[in-house]
This record gives sequence, structure tokens and C-alpha cells, in this order.
Amino acid sequence: NPNQQPLSRPRSAALYEEALKHIVGGVNSPSRSFKAVGGGAPVFMQRGQGAYFWDADNNRYIDYLAAYGPIILGHAHPHVTAAIVRAAENGTLYGTPTELEIEFARMIKEAIPSLDKVRFVNSGTEAVMTTIRVARAYTGRNKIIKFAGCYHGHSDLVLVAAGSGPSTLGIPDSAGIPMSIANEVITVPFNNAEALEAALAHWGDDIAAVMVEPIVGNFGMVMPKPGFLEALCSLARANGSLVIYDEVITAFRFHYGAAQTFDGLEAPSLAAIEPDLTALGKIIGGGLPIGAYGGRKEIMEQVAPLGPAYQAGTMAGNPASISAGIACLQALREPGVYDRLDRLAARLEAGLAQGAREHGIALTINRIRGSLSTHFCDHPVTDYDQAQDTDGEQFARFFRLMLEQGICLAPSKYEAWFMTTAHTDEDIEVTIQAAERAFAVMASE
Ligand code: PMP
Repeated sequence: NPNQQPLSRPRSAALYEEALKHIVGGVNSPSRSFKAVGGGAPVFMQRGQGAYFWDADNNRYIDYLAAYGPIILGHAHPHVTAAIVRAAENGTLYGTPTELEIEFARMIKEAIPSLDKVRFVNSGTEAVMTTIRVARAYTGRNKIIKFAGCYHGHSDLVLVAAGSGPSTLGIPDSAGIPMSIANEVITVPFNNAEALEAALAHWGDDIAAVMVEPIVGNFGMVMPKPGFLEALCSLARANGSLVIYDEVITAFRFHYGAAQTFDGLEAPSLAAIEPDLTALGKIIGGGLPIGAYGGRKEIMEQVAPLGPAYQAGTMAGNPASISAGIACLQALREPGVYDRLDRLAARLEAGLAQGAREHGIALTINRIRGSLSTHFCDHPVTDYDQAQDTDGEQFARFFRLMLEQGICLAPSKYEAWFMTTAHTDEDIEVTIQAAERAFAVMASE
């Protein structure tokens, strides 16, 4: 509807005022705040169904946030909802093992064969944090190498991004992280095997693991350049370091499996490389809290009660999250699911690109199957420096113009748009038209 009035959100504004009194910053995760897009009240949602959610003022939005990834089936998918209800009726937590956990572990192992053994936890943060501990226990080494701009949750060691130099010792991204811990992390640029090689040459003896998002989801969607992951794995192995894939975003995102098993057109060799340890989360919980980690048997056997590396959890493997996860993977296993996400996202990509071109707006779109990222710049985005070197103000303007028209993106220029199985061709068309109007406004300013 081209004559549509911008949505107004008085109730979200009032709720934000109230939330600020009780919840720090008004939000339970800083990425939900609108700080990066000019501030003000975030949208308070009250209900979701399929590809839509409705805010506290009852405005409807087409959802491309997908809760930062997990909601790949859309909101309140009936099969997942039924599984959660069934689990709740049987009691949500026992503090004992259940058969469900075995079933789910089998499903995940079948889809990701590098996992000989898994352990379920409650978040991606926990999963990643523990892979590091296990890698340190197994290798007897202390340091890790990570890549600039890759996000691995909020545990101390990985909240270190460092500058854009080729290989720098970490500088904490957060207060409360001692330099003694930041000194255990070396950050190198993504897609730069030479920088990794140099870092390994310098600190090699003490590198327990090289940690990477094999396909990046945290500074836009960024593919590894051909050969990068092969180089990463062989350099790490030659150095006696483990390879940890953080597949919290990527697992079950592009196909029924992980990035490590994905024969994507752009990187035919991706599937040939197996990490030693893998961290999972998001989609595998079907919208309930979950994380998981796993890997080679002899490495995983470092974990208590078999080995000396301790990790535990009152809520870990709870029947509600596991049931939601099983139901979600069952739905994703249906034929054609991922091709449909791919087709819808391709259409969206084409429409966005055309709209931007027509209005003279420089826009780089990185799309991988059903997810894409939009970068306001006229250069490619293959590493964090390039992702930073984009127009944040233009993104903020675009974000707000889309929101006013009932299209919800993540409030950050670094986050992806996620297609869900609930999106329709009509949703995509409406979104393209909204973007076209947004670009027109931006071009006229
Ligand atoms: N790793 C990656 C790649 C992520 O994108 C995220 C969250 N966005 C995490 C880890 C942390 O997961 P969680 O928020 O569930 O702790």
C-alpha cells in the first residue's frame, strides 16, 4: 500500500520508558536496543505467527530478524508448538537423562558426521566457551586464535576483537575482562591465510585452537574465499592446534546439515574439511534455549564425567528444548525446504539490488541461500574491515524507513536478513516495494 501511513508505536514507547526503570537498558540483550540505528524505543512485540509478528500497538511486521536466526520455520510453527506443549504436559525438567536426548543427539550426528559425541547446553555462548576449555584441556595449551568481527558469544575469551592489524594481541571489547585473559587471544582478519600463518609462526607452541565461523554470519553473511578453510585447517593441524567451527548460526541454515557439510556452489570444497570441535545453537532449539558442542571422540572424552574438563548444566538437555529441536529438524528434513528459502531470498536479493540501482544507492548484497546481508557501500564485503567501512547512517535510515512500513530487520548494519519457511512470494514482493520507496526517500534527501 503506497499510501500507507508510517506505523506509530506509542505503546512501545511507553513500555520502553517502563522497561528502562527495571531492566538494564530496557532490553535483555543489547543487540535488541536501537542504539546502532539512532536510538529510541525498540519495538515491543507481543505475538508472532508464521512470517509475521505484531507489536504492542498491534502493528504487523514481516519478520526478517527471525530472532537472530533460530526462527527458521517462522513463529509458532504448529509441529514445534505441539512438541513443546507435549513436553510441558509431561514436566519440563527432571534432572535425569531422558531418551529424547539420545534421539536428538543421533539426529544431529547423522547430519554432522564430524560429531562423534555431543553435549547439550543452554546457549551458543556456553557451547563455544566449552569448546575452548576442551581444546585447552586436550592440547595442554592456553591461547586461541580467532578472526576479527566473528562473534562467538559473550564469554571472556571471545569478547576480544582487536584492531585491524594483521595479527594483534587482543584488546577486550568489554570492561571486566582482564588483560591477562585478553592476552590469551590472538585476532587475525578473516579470509587471510597469510595473517593466520604469521600468527601461528609467532605464538604457535601455545595455540590450543583456531576458532572460526566457517561461513560468517556476524559481519554480514560472508563466504570463506576458496581455499581459506583448507589453509586454516592444514595450518592449524601442522601446528598441533585444534580447529573449532562455531556453527551456532550456520548449522541447518543453508541445508540439512552444517557449513562443514555444505557443498555450496560458491565453495565446492567446504564439505571436505572437518573441524575437531563444533559449537551449535539457535536453529537446533526450534526457538527454545539451547546450545550444543561436539567433536572427535578422544577430544570429547576430556569432558566430565569421563575426563578432567568440567562442564555442567541444570537446564542442559531439558525435554522442552530437546523436543522443540527434534520437531524443528524434522520439519527442516522435508524435501524442498531449503530450495524454497533459497528461491525466496534470491528474489528478494534481485529486487533490493534493482531498487538500489534505480535510485543510485550503493548497495552490496551478500546472499548465501536463504540469508543475506545488505551493506551500504560500493565495494565487496569479504572481511570485517570492509564490513565496517560501510555507511551506518544510511543503514539506520533504511532500517527505520522499512520499519515504518512494517518490515522488521535487525537494528544493526552487521546483521543478516533471514528467510523463514513461512515467508511467501507476496511477502517478498511487499518487501521489495517497501525497499524501493525507502531508497527513493533516501535518494531525495
Ligand atoms: N556464536 C555465533 C556465531 C553467534 O552468532 C552467536 C549469537 N549470535 C553465539 C555464538 C552466541 O549464542 P547465544 O546468543 O545463544 O549465547
